[in-house]
Amino acid sequence: MKEFPTPAAGESRLRLLLFFRWLRHLVLAGCLGLCFWQCSPQVQQAGVAPGKGDAAEPQIRVCIAENPRGQFLSFSGKYQLDLEEARYFFDDGVGKLSVSYRDGALFLSNSQRYFELDPPQTLIFKPELPRDHFIWNDVPYYGELLIHFREDRVMIVNELPVETYLNGVLPFEIPTNQSEYQEAVLAQAIAARSYALYRLENPVNELYDAWADERDQIYKGDLQKTPLAERAISNTRGIVLVNQGSPAIAQYHSTCGGVLEAYIGSDPGGIAYDMTDNEYNCKVSPYYRWVEFRKVETVLWNLSREFEIDSTQVNSWIESGFELDLNISQRKASGRVAEMVVGVQGAEYRVDGLRIRQILADESGKPLPSNFFFLNKSPANPEKFYIFGAGAGHGSGMCQWGAIGMSMKGYKYNNILGLYYPQLATQKMY
Ligand SMILES: [Zn+2]
Repeated sequence: MKEFPTPAAGESRLRLLLFFRWLRHLVLAGCLGLCFWQCSPQVQQAGVAPGKGDAAEPQIRVCIAENPRGQFLSFSGKYQLDLEEARYFFDDGVGKLSVSYRDGALFLSNSQRYFELDPPQTLIFKPELPRDHFIWNDVPYYGELLIHFREDRVMIVNELPVETYLNGVLPFEIPTNQSEYQEAVLAQAIAARSYALYRLENPVNELYDAWADERDQIYKGDLQKTPLAERAISNTRGIVLVNQGSPAIAQYHSTCGGVLEAYIGSDPGGIAYDMTDNEYNCKVSPYYRWVEFRKVETVLWNLSREFEIDSTQVNSWIESGFELDLNISQRKASGRVAEMVVGVQGAEYRVDGLRIRQILADESGKPLPSNFFFLNKSPANPEKFYIFGAGAGHGSGMCQWGAIGMSMKGYKYNNILGLYYPQLATQKMY
């Protein structure tokens, strides 16, 4: 790591730099004395031993940003960074640092400090106390901050205990603002913990276990706390859904619309589920049934983005008039659209999976709520497709609005888990 005064610094900045150098020597001298007990090798968390309720709570590594540009970092409390040449401390006094990754290096700077961090390396910022936290783009995060440089990218990772992580997941994955949702939130806590522990055994890569967005579970640190979520997490501490003794990939989605997907993911070799929610518990969802329309031109632009069709070509089609047809070519057993063929000017584009929802995104780019729909073009208005749909999300595993509906009817969380994960058992891991 290189530490410089800001490029525009004058004499006062130079004095500041000298001050930091003096401070660094002071800290380094202090470190020599402390090193005997502070530099002992870190004990790695062992994997969770299935079947034992007395294992230690594991840590999870979550990637919160990649190749940051124009983002911000600050610290509350005290963090330390050990480098070969010195130990650095980051606290409230450091202020808000602008973070940018360019030309293969990461820059942290504000009007007083300027750091340039070069690859290849991993920087570990460790909190002194559990209550200390760092703030990334106005979101507070507990635990360690790791910055990984690998090849041509930099990854910002937060490592923290699983239960603390869940506090940053639940309020963003299920409504937690009504006490009558309690049993659904308990079920959600167990599903989210199972997913997290599944990820620990099947990490995204060697540097982190999960993403902090829809690719895994939405995680926003300590941004929002709700008593219902906190209580649900602490009351189910360590409990997960297991498949043959291992934490299960307990998927969930917003609203099934009354028909669940037959398998986890799209893999017919996966765990089979009952396909119908006979009580239509998710009727309370705003996405239970919906109608949307798309202008033919919007679909054409979406298609051009997905298949990299040149915008000059698209504009010329729009100017001279064009034909665009949508045909559903394949449905899953549940009724969800598995494949759709888009015909434009004699060419055919086959789309499947999540791409179908992107092709039918609205003008702002928001994808279609689900693949569960049928569509037609009104003869009276050939410029528009009318889409009649049900549900939101992929339909696999627990239907969250269905869980809410069950909770409101008085069902308990184990009834909810039993309906949506019939093949899975619960087990306390720690
Ligand atoms: Zn449902």
